[in-house]
Amino acid sequence: MDADSHRLYEITPDSEAREFAGGVRVRVVRAGWFRPDAGGFFGVVPKPLWSRLIETDERGRILCRLNLLLLEIGGKRLLVETGTGERMRDKDREIKGIEGGNPAVALEAVDIDPATIDFVIVSHLHYDHAGGMVGADGRPLFPRARYVVQREEAAAARGDQLRLQGIMETEQLELVRAAGQLAEVHGDVEVVPGVTVMPTGGHTHGSQALIIGRAASGHENGGAERAVFFGDLIPTRWQLPVRWTSAFDDYPVDAVEVRQRLLTRVVDEGWWCYFTHDPGALPIQLERTEKDAIAVRGSPSAV
Ligand SMILES: [Zn+2]
Repeated sequence: MDADSHRLYEITPDSEAREFAGGVRVRVVRAGWFRPDAGGFFGVVPKPLWSRLIETDERGRILCRLNLLLLEIGGKRLLVETGTGERMRDKDREIKGIEGGNPAVALEAVDIDPATIDFVIVSHLHYDHAGGMVGADGRPLFPRARYVVQREEAAAARGDQLRLQGIMETEQLELVRAAGQLAEVHGDVEVVPGVTVMPTGGHTHGSQALIIGRAASGHENGGAERAVFFGDLIPTRWQLPVRWTSAFDDYPVDAVEVRQRLLTRVVDEGWWCYFTHDPGALPIQLERTEKDAIAVRGSPSAV
């Protein structure tokens, strides 16, 4: 990999920003890199299958991006995801191979002022999505923003399930709440016109995806261009086979069902896809293969 393709912070150039139905403008902000354990990332999928798609490093890890989305509509700016932030222990950063990860630093590096963000949408409360909600000083990194989290996710973070102890960013959640900036939502909610959060569960109890672009009036899709951001329900294009759940999915049975439902809609309606940890060019479109699987449009199906 050359130095250019391993740049720490990047944003989709203005000329390549996408605009979806209703005028929602989308750019991808690359906020750094991390290296999840491949075995965990691909869960029950046998290595001979996933290793056709991606190489591991000497520690069995794969190189992934921390992708944020910057959305603009009607004078409002929304940031989707907050990366790892800067509050992790050095040892954890080293184990997970994190480079960068602070969303405010990433935005400033591409000339976006964090104080101009009106809403921060967090798909779920794991470290690599919610770790950058607040800074080292405990103050929200986005001083004017409302932080949008599903109520079920916040409740799970505050709950007493042993599996979740130390996994959810509960302390950061409470710091955001104490600052008066937390918006716990329930169900499908249109945050601003054309930007809707949609609970999916599967990965965590209260995971949410994002639907970008409004359906044309009088039609369910009407041919209007729309896009989806899956959160960790589908973190990269490598996990498109619907049964390829990860070991980090708390509810894999639900994850397979909701992935199938959502991907069917994405293919049938021609939606564009943004993936939270994909290092490749985004967005992409999908298609159904001859074997009735779902794959990246125009690519040879690997599995
Ligand atoms: Zn993640």
